Amino acid sequence: SQQSQKRVWAEQDVSNTLPIRDAFSHKGKHGKGLVIGGAVAMPGSIAMTSRAALRAGAGLLTVATVQETITALASTVVEATYTTLPSEGGYISDIGSVDFSYDAIAIGMGMGRHSEAERMIQVALEKTQGALLIDADGLYALKGNLSSLKARQNPTILTPHPGEMATLLDVSIPELLHQPFAYSKAFAEEFQVYVVLKGAFTIITTPQGHQWVTVTGNPGMAKGGSGDVLAGILLAMVMQSQTVEEALCNGTWIHGYTADLLVQHQHSTYDLLASDLIEGLAQTYRALL
Ligand code: AMP
Ligand code: MG
Repeated sequence: SQQSQKRVWAEQDVSNTLPIRDAFSHKGKHGKGLVIGGAVAMPGSIAMTSRAALRAGAGLLTVATVQETITALASTVVEATYTTLPSEGGYISDIGSVDFSYDAIAIGMGMGRHSEAERMIQVALEKTQGALLIDADGLYALKGNLSSLKARQNPTILTPHPGEMATLLDVSIPELLHQPFAYSKAFAEEFQVYVVLKGAFTIITTPQGHQWVTVTGNPGMAKGGSGDVLAGILLAMVMQSQTVEEALCNGTWIHGYTADLLVQHQHSTYDLLASDLIEGLAQTYRALL
């Protein structure tokens, strides 16, 4: 039955499935990832996504964005390499020059909502050889491209909050939240995508319709940037050798659990910032490993 196909993803599931880094591993074994996004006026979101991916264990990370944002990030995300994308009016105008041969790519954070974004998502859907995670502005740009999701051979992961999911589905937010499991399942199965529907609880749905819920996290995360951090953690998890399903469940659990540890020990739900989650990953990994 539908009931038996959804379960809570708990700490024990994380410890059972989180890959151990073996003593002889090298950076090539932890994946090569790419983050595409940002704009002149929105340097913060990809900064958070990128740092979160690095803190979550990514082997090699490249950031593709506009020149001004590279200048802003280069001294704070020093472990990444950069690709300059052409821009127009402060936004990325074209991603045709990007090398798409990465293990996983995340696109959309801080990219802006403009007409070119739709074409860029189309290009990413067609050219990405590994897993493709689409978040934030990328989800709005996906709206007109839903049919090309089915043509993808490799995993596609959508990480909407309820507002973004409601837009994709063309329903109201209350209607979506009345039946979040049913809407996620129908969408994931129809378009053959993984859906991470974020909220106080997060629902992870596979293209086969399996559903998991993570219940970690707290209202300290109800602030700009939390989702950008999640995108980075998920990118890193997917790049490393796990099934996509486990990677998404573990990353979502870790994101929320980190916020829980931080409000118990160092912060409060008022002052917690999304960037604190990135630094806080240390405590979560140390508790898990
Ligand atoms: P976004 O809206 O894209 O910034 O994503 C917000 C992130 O914070 C998601 O991962 C949510 O699951 C998480 N989040 C926001 N509010 C809460 C809450 N009240 N309890 C638990 N997690 C939350
Ligand atoms: Mg977001």
